[in-house]
Amino acid sequence: MKKLITLLCSALVCLSGAAFAEVKIGMAIDDLRLERWQKDRDFFVAKAEELGAKVFVQSSNSNEQAQISQIENMISRGVDVLVIIPYNGQVLANVIAEAKAEGIKVLAYDRLINNAEIDFYLSFDNERVGELQAQALVERRDSGKFFLMGGSPVDNNAHLFRKGQMNVIQPLVDAGQVQIVGDQWAEGWAAENALKIMENALTANDNDIDVVVASNDSTAGGAIQALDAQGLAGKVLISGQDADLAAIRRVVAGTQTMTIYKPIQMLATTAAEIAVELGAGNQPETNSSLNNGLKDVPAYLLTPIAVDKDNVDDTVIADGFHKKEDVYQ
Ligand code: BGC
Repeated sequence: MKKLITLLCSALVCLSGAAFAEVKIGMAIDDLRLERWQKDRDFFVAKAEELGAKVFVQSSNSNEQAQISQIENMISRGVDVLVIIPYNGQVLANVIAEAKAEGIKVLAYDRLINNAEIDFYLSFDNERVGELQAQALVERRDSGKFFLMGGSPVDNNAHLFRKGQMNVIQPLVDAGQVQIVGDQWAEGWAAENALKIMENALTANDNDIDVVVASNDSTAGGAIQALDAQGLAGKVLISGQDADLAAIRRVVAGTQTMTIYKPIQMLATTAAEIAVELGAGNQPETNSSLNNGLKDVPAYLLTPIAVDKDNVDDTVIADGFHKKEDVYQ
């Protein structure tokens, strides 16, 4: 009898699960125009749907107000969980308070959201990303003129990358080996902004720059265009991040020194699992916690991998992140 009741109950749970417990997720993405975020979206949606959730996706294309309206729209559509890749992590406290008032769970995806009542933060170890970028550069050249090409000033990650980079570079500055000849931030991580910044930096320094510490591949791409115009591509060392196809090709061609490979599939599928767990009222597993100015946010951080010419095959290609025939053309 007991067995029969248990069976019936689990059948009921199943039935009610199918009928009522579908988790609705709103995914608010900063900027789908960048290659990496399209991968994030595709992997996230596929996994979330496999777990029985429904996902609404919107991209603000680096527009602060558009992102806030999109989040408000998701709240009024009755989502259970918001997964947010913030454009500006400093300005979402109010809209997140609106979400919390509706009992909606909030997952900060890849980028932390500051001073807001978020439930979870999932990302890579971003300070480590910066350290790996700088290490790869200083292993090849530990003296001379360095230019710092930061990312979006309103992205918390941009500051974590810089922190990690300076963990490695500052001792060389202190030792008098390295001179920082410029330090800029590219709005919206846009290649065209990085291009202008690099052109100006080259002019201001009479083309005398040895190393560009670029924080990601889109800004590296812009900077390399400026270097190329001066016949300096391949001569000036330059970092990147994301293992974008164009960047991997530049690494292979020798015009970009390195990039960072972050297995996006791992991030996105873990995020989908966490979002569904949060939606079901569970507390997902953590391996870290970060203070966002308001609270210590439970976090899970994944490990980034440095990629140069020598390990392209063993990393991004072996993982199926890019096809060999696309990289080597
Ligand atoms: C991400 C990088 C990305 C950049 C621009 C950062 O927050 O961590 O992977 O290149 O945003 O989208």
